[in-house]
Amino acid sequence: MNVNQSAPPVPPFGQPQPVYLGHHQSSYGGQLGSTTAPTSYGAYNGPVPSYQQTPPPGVSRAPPSAGAPPASTAQGPCGQTAYGQFGQGDVQNGPSSTVQMQRLPGYQPFGSAILAPVVSQPAVLQPYGPPPTSAQVTAQLAGMQISGAVAPASPPSGLGYGPPTSLASASGSFPNSGLYGSYPQGQAPPLGQAQGHPGAQPPQRSVPLQASSFTPPASGGPRMPSMTGPLLPGQSFGGPPVSQPNHVSSPAPQALPPGTQMTGPPGPPPPPMHSSQQPGYQLQQNGSFGPTRGPQSNYGSPYPGAAAFGSQPGPPQPLPPKRLDPDAIPSPIQVIEDDRNNRGSEPFVTGVRGQVPPLVTTNFLVKDQGNASPRYIRCTSYNIPCTSDMAKQAQVPLAAVIKPLARLPPEEASPYVVDHGESGPLRCNRCKAYMCPFMQFVEGGRRFQCCFCSCINDVPPQYFQHLDHTGKRVDAYDRPELSLGSYEFLATVDYCKNNKFPSPPAFIFMIDVSYNAIRSGLVRLLCEELKSLLDFLPREGGAEESAIRVGFVTYNKVLHFYNVKSSLAQPQMMVVSDVGDMFVPLLDGFLVNVNESQAVITSLLDQIPEMFADTRETETVFAPVIQAGMEALKAAECAGKLFLFHTSLPIAEAPGKLKNRDDRKLINTDKEKTLFQPQTGAYQTLAKECVAQGCCVDLFLFPNQYVDVATLSVVPQLTGGSVYKYACFQVENDQERFLSDLRRDVQKVVGFDAVMRVRTSTGIRAVDFFGAFYMNNTTDVELAGLDGDKTVTVEFKHDDRLNEENGALLQCALLYTSCAGQRRLRIHNLALNCCTQLADLYRNCETDTLINYMAKFAYRGVLNSPVKTVRDTLITQCAQILACYRKNCASPSSAGQLILPECMKLLPVYLNCVLKSDVLQPGAEVTTDDRAYVRQLVTSMDVAETNVFFYPRLLPLTKSPIENTTEPPAVRASEERLSNGDIYLLENGLNLFLWVGAGVQQGVVQSLFGVSSFSQITSGLSVLPVLDNLLSKKVQGLIDSLRAQRSRYMKLIVVKQEDKLETVFKHFLVEDKSLSGGASYVDFLCHMHKEIRQLLS
Ligand SMILES: [Zn+2]
Repeated sequence: MNVNQSAPPVPPFGQPQPVYLGHHQSSYGGQLGSTTAPTSYGAYNGPVPSYQQTPPPGVSRAPPSAGAPPASTAQGPCGQTAYGQFGQGDVQNGPSSTVQMQRLPGYQPFGSAILAPVVSQPAVLQPYGPPPTSAQVTAQLAGMQISGAVAPASPPSGLGYGPPTSLASASGSFPNSGLYGSYPQGQAPPLGQAQGHPGAQPPQRSVPLQASSFTPPASGGPRMPSMTGPLLPGQSFGGPPVSQPNHVSSPAPQALPPGTQMTGPPGPPPPPMHSSQQPGYQLQQNGSFGPTRGPQSNYGSPYPGAAAFGSQPGPPQPLPPKRLDPDAIPSPIQVIEDDRNNRGSEPFVTGVRGQVPPLVTTNFLVKDQGNASPRYIRCTSYNIPCTSDMAKQAQVPLAAVIKPLARLPPEEASPYVVDHGESGPLRCNRCKAYMCPFMQFVEGGRRFQCCFCSCINDVPPQYFQHLDHTGKRVDAYDRPELSLGSYEFLATVDYCKNNKFPSPPAFIFMIDVSYNAIRSGLVRLLCEELKSLLDFLPREGGAEESAIRVGFVTYNKVLHFYNVKSSLAQPQMMVVSDVGDMFVPLLDGFLVNVNESQAVITSLLDQIPEMFADTRETETVFAPVIQAGMEALKAAECAGKLFLFHTSLPIAEAPGKLKNRDDRKLINTDKEKTLFQPQTGAYQTLAKECVAQGCCVDLFLFPNQYVDVATLSVVPQLTGGSVYKYACFQVENDQERFLSDLRRDVQKVVGFDAVMRVRTSTGIRAVDFFGAFYMNNTTDVELAGLDGDKTVTVEFKHDDRLNEENGALLQCALLYTSCAGQRRLRIHNLALNCCTQLADLYRNCETDTLINYMAKFAYRGVLNSPVKTVRDTLITQCAQILACYRKNCASPSSAGQLILPECMKLLPVYLNCVLKSDVLQPGAEVTTDDRAYVRQLVTSMDVAETNVFFYPRLLPLTKSPIENTTEPPAVRASEERLSNGDIYLLENGLNLFLWVGAGVQQGVVQSLFGVSSFSQITSGLSVLPVLDNLLSKKVQGLIDSLRAQRSRYMKLIVVKQEDKLETVFKHFLVEDKSLSGGASYVDFLCHMHKEIRQLLS
């Protein structure tokens, strides 16, 4: 009945601050004092609830801070650069630098179709917020034009991506046209060009000036058949997106250059076009590569200044191949910038149903006014079709990406804890939904109607409260469960296993001490680290010490358990060599309190590296280790986590023994899926037992060769654990990354022995789930452990008709045991709109979340289907989504136009990144283990992580004034955006590169690397020298900041332009054609256009 906080430090929401006074109650057994609540959630509060901010009293040793990594010396590449971070990529296999320079032909789009200007239509007015969500981006294919060149009246390029306010009104006029009124007609492609060379391969943007006479080499890459398909009635090319009011039926052409014919949506005069024959275009290319080229001038602003492009059109070229101007197709950078500008300044207030939150790339604060923060739940669409027929027509997946224990920024209040006493949380009698702000109180407050199933329930006398004249309880704002989207209930004993309140969880450290682990220095490093790290186990609230007990096991072919009871002078080892029938040889003294047993533990950690220093044992077991940890937790009757540090394929005779079955010849065959499947079912069986015990497994792998990640990661995956992989681990090169990950992993707050259920209002239901968990039935997501980084993605399907008035409701309830052993329920509620018009669906979609879902769907698909089938399915679905919009929502326009909904205009570019990712289209350097590793990582990534993982962030470091310390605006992930006179950082959440152009000024090189010339910079360097100058500090600061934003430590790799390492780097320039055959963005957009037209015809 009671809310146990008193005067929360921060008003939880915009309402008058709730008063929680006078409801202290300790009937649940006194586990939570009324004064502990506000602080007890400090753990969920900050980005890193680490000891760094609040060192435990009495601890004077320097914390193993992630922010202060051990100084390391400059290191050479470990032979595994980029992939070294998650794989065993062999850079030696990459093309040499000379090959890279010859690669231009390959850079060609492999289709001959020429895209015409992308036109963006101003969108339909957004229901919420200023940004127009439904502006359309249209693109037209050109080149086949027979009837005359069409210089499109292409709209000002800036419009399409500009702030919504600049969009044309629905009148069809283009307010901005004046901006481009002076646009020289000459910029329109000469007629002859457009007509005369249908299908000619367009010159590449990356082709240097001489490209005007460039003939596409036959080797320019495979032609995508689709690219040569019927072209649209010719039209302009290369124009920038045009803004057009979304629903203008026949916009009047404006500002058409003489001799041009308007077939597309009317728009402002064409934006500057880039074609190779124009001098300006060449300038544009200058930044690409090579000392002879000048700096590229066009990024930084949405569109290059018109002056830069062809104010003096060159003479008509003999071969005027044209292709879609990359600057004219939707830019992720621009979309991200626009959202930051439009939505980053105001808090996102969750009081309105169906509100689309700002993008994950925008920094914003959230005020909970009745719906869960987007940090907890993000949906693919915030407006759901009323009927399943509509949903099927649109093909837009309806899914929510849920991060139940997400950490919040310090400015946002953690969920309040509500204590309803012995009666437990109030729930609907029929569907068991928990009390929430959407429940309707009736009959003067004596009953309530369930918002999920409509059942009328009695209000227990102790919960009764009067209603005000609007029918709302007068205490609504005093009770989190009646006014907030997210809150927690204290669970009663009924919610506990065996009807018994849980014991505090335990951590067991299980260390491989075979030859490889000893030789690499891993064991010594780890033991040294644990001596201090154990002082910083997760604690709750103001607790002086962690309630978590710890235990230690070492192993190779046999297991060694350690008795570290505080009364012992020295630790005792007990060896279990019968790994076929694992048992725990000791109970008393195995799991201990860190403080009480500190001396014995320290002694043990000192001795372990010495004991095995001379080992010759190379074989290891694996399943018996997990079995042992799980049995130990079972014997101690608690949940917990196993931290396994493992080096090799477990080939020793034991349950779960594996063989090397890696076979790259299976790639692109029907058997490729077996590479992702576990080679034995033993691990699923083991995982199931672990889940039943609440035993979560985190696996740290240190392989020198194939270890079968697909099989070894089964237990972590099914128990809600994490997998980390450090290929070719060497202490000097990799300790910073490993220790940083380990510290974060050990300290992070975890919910144990958890069950998650997602309830929905009548009409839809959760039908499918993605993530790291186990399911025994169709509704309950079981998680042996769940941390603040992990998401569970839920897909919904209709089972009845929805209606616009009621909308649709989701309630996610997570029952878990806290780090202190308290049983709790965390509730997140979210209300969505429902629509009868498809346009409303498309106006309220969230592309980043869609991509997160689609990637997970595809990555699961490779377990059962050929990779090609999975890829085709994705492409087809994307085409269907866009075709449905085109057919039902877009304003009438030429069939040749590619029209994208404003909210989904990045769907093609992002989907292409998923399609060409290592799992779905591996390059030669990607190992089977890399693919399995990434596959399982993505499965539980949140939306921000998939966003940057699939479309890396590329930041120019030397473009902005050196005094400017804010994060520089990113540029598009394409080689042509790199200027050889600059330095860039690229990060994707796992990898971090510093790319240095060959033409970087000597002063800059000196400031950053402490050497006098480019040639003296060590390629593959992973630590920059700390130098006393502004640039050095700025770059170090930025690197630190990027690392702090990600859940895993990103090791830096310095890549020099035209060095062999550059091949690895270029793999992440995802807008370009990839060496593994992945399409460039431009080509994929053309392909997508063709697919859509086929669907529409
Ligand atoms: Zn109900």
